[in-house]
Amino acid sequence: MMNQSPDSGVVFILNPVEICLQVFEFVVEFWIWWEMFFFFSSGSWWEMFFFMPRKMGGRGLTSVKDCYWETILDFDDYAHTDVNGCLKLVSERCDYHHSPLNKLFRKAADIRVAISPSFEVKEKQDKLRDSDHKLKIEQGEFDRMCEQETISKKSLQWHNKVHLPAALEMKIFKTRQQICKCRARLKRMNKTKDDTCRYCHAARETTAHLIGGCPALRTNKYIYRHDTLCRFIHHSIAKRRGFKVEKEWWKHKPQAIMTIGQGKSEEKLFWNQLWNTTAKTSARKPDIVWIRHDKILLLEISCPLDRNVIIRYDEKMSKYDELVRELKARYKRPVYTKPIVIGATGMLPLAVDAILDDLEISAWQCQKLVAIETVRLLDTLSLV
Ligand SMILES: [Zn+2]
Repeated sequence: MMNQSPDSGVVFILNPVEICLQVFEFVVEFWIWWEMFFFFSSGSWWEMFFFMPRKMGGRGLTSVKDCYWETILDFDDYAHTDVNGCLKLVSERCDYHHSPLNKLFRKAADIRVAISPSFEVKEKQDKLRDSDHKLKIEQGEFDRMCEQETISKKSLQWHNKVHLPAALEMKIFKTRQQICKCRARLKRMNKTKDDTCRYCHAARETTAHLIGGCPALRTNKYIYRHDTLCRFIHHSIAKRRGFKVEKEWWKHKPQAIMTIGQGKSEEKLFWNQLWNTTAKTSARKPDIVWIRHDKILLLEISCPLDRNVIIRYDEKMSKYDELVRELKARYKRPVYTKPIVIGATGMLPLAVDAILDDLEISAWQCQKLVAIETVRLLDTLSLV
């Protein structure tokens, strides 16, 4: 505030309230900058996101500092376990303070003393975080399943083979670890009282329910995901065998029946056809039937919840037994059922991996397609 003095020109009169406000503003601003400085200089935030293993939702980058420390410790270990003891002898005969070898030994000792965030400790921290993560019933479910003998290691590796935008990959991890914004989770966080599914109003709205168990979403969302995978597989087979198809799979519109060759080399590809059987059976419509001169393959495709892949595989294996008998008698050649079951976020049974290898279809691509469609499903519902 500025006033004109009657006798001596300009004087400043400071209002006490204004002074207090100015001081308060300064303190708040200082506090914010102070917090920001510590936040960015602490290292914990970037270590969390950049150096955490990818399967746990981090970026899986290699820390240069860890590599540097690891090299020094490796050399230190080597020098002290050297059978001839030459390096140790050199270090003992040299000046302790100035020889490079001794400096390196001292550096190694410092690293071992200075715990965090050395690579050894980081490794331990990763293991602890991993075991803690697996102990959480829902969030560690995928990782625990991957340890089973019937599950392919590709379940955890596929995202390293395909290139996805970081944001999309993060959403896939969140879905896999069941941490989307479903009502059951919001209720646990005391953000809502009702955890009933907003679509079917018949069950608890968990991530698993939304991505694979909601009857209200089955008719459109799940079928679309299933059909996308079917189209990809149909296109892959047709293209490889020389059927006339589009170059890109996403432009592919499968025809009901496709034929190539004549006589003994004739091959037929049936898409979603209802087959007549003499015996009464409800399972007469496999997704793809591939009739070759030497055998017939029934391909049945499914994208259930990750936890249900093995059960679904076994179901599909025996589902078409009656149809298999009929086709065997009709075409006089062996008929095989080949279930292609891929979990909603990429869980791959070993048996399915072998089938895809046999058909020369990329398992990575199949896993990627299913996972992207699952995330898209939650994305359109604004839940991830
Ligand atoms: Zn529901």
